[in-house]
Formats: sequence, C-alpha cells, structure tokens
Amino acid sequence: MPIARCEFCTSAPREEVAVSRWTADPDDRERLTISLCAKHLKRVRRAGNAGHQHRGYSYKAGFW
Ligand SMILES: [Zn+2]
Repeated sequence: MPIARCEFCTSAPREEVAVSRWTADPDDRERLTISLCAKHLKRVRRAGNAGHQHRGYSYKAGFW
C-alpha cells in the first residue's frame, strides 16, 4: 500500500475530497479527487469560489 499523504503537505490525509482545480479561468476547470489532511480540507472548504491557492492552481471543494 502506498504511503498516503495530503496533496498539499506531508501530513497524513484525513479524507479524499472531490475538488475542482483551475489556473486562470475558473470555467476551464479540472475535476479530480485528492487526499487532504484536516487542515487543508478546512482551507479548501472555506475558500469558496475564489479557491484555495496552491502552486499556481486554485482549488475548491466540489465539481461545480
Ligand atoms: Zn495538508
């Protein structure tokens, strides 16, 4: 079994989350499932439509 870790840091993941990810244009988004630790899960969920920024991408919870 691979060592699981959060998509954004080295913490153990809390949950797999369906997210939307985009760079410049929120309408041009990718939909994917990533593992997040409790801290980042909270950040992504709080970020709302503006998205949580990470390495040039914006992330928000949910596919829409
Ligand atoms: Zn994390």
